[in-house]
Amino acid sequence: MVGPECATTLCILHPASCVRFAFLPTIITMKLNDSCVCGSGKKFSSCCEPFLSSKAKPRTVKQLVRSRYSAYALGQAEHRDYLVRTWHPATVQHIRMADLIADGHQWKSLEILNSKQKGDLGRVEFKATYSVDDGPEQVHHEISAFHRHKGSWLYLEGEVSEESV
Ligand SMILES: [Zn+2]
Repeated sequence: MVGPECATTLCILHPASCVRFAFLPTIITMKLNDSCVCGSGKKFSSCCEPFLSSKAKPRTVKQLVRSRYSAYALGQAEHRDYLVRTWHPATVQHIRMADLIADGHQWKSLEILNSKQKGDLGRVEFKATYSVDDGPEQVHHEISAFHRHKGSWLYLEGEVSEESV
């Protein structure tokens, strides 16, 4: 699949059959011993990697935010698949391929400002700094809502504001 069909959920859920997915550029390659791209200060192998590779599930909404940020920052196709897998079924059908690919985005840093978790509901406020095609840095400021669904924390929706640095 390529072209307008690429924006369909079907294409996102079956990335192997999507030409654009197959040719996504690798933005960053991380080794297990590297410091995690999410900026936690931990090694990749003991931070976001187990979640991205489905070896473990995030136990907290903060871990989910960190690993989803890492999926965006790393940019590989299998990590985009992680974004889809951690999206709530109630809202995943609204996402578009273009929102996930974001060609030219370079993610610089993540700052978690606030997080709350109660029962199966969670909320995290964070700022993610990025630039587009080496342009000026911009800040994606979001308050995200999460819901634990069948034992997995999933991204439900977010209130987003974009800010200049
Ligand atoms: Zn991490």
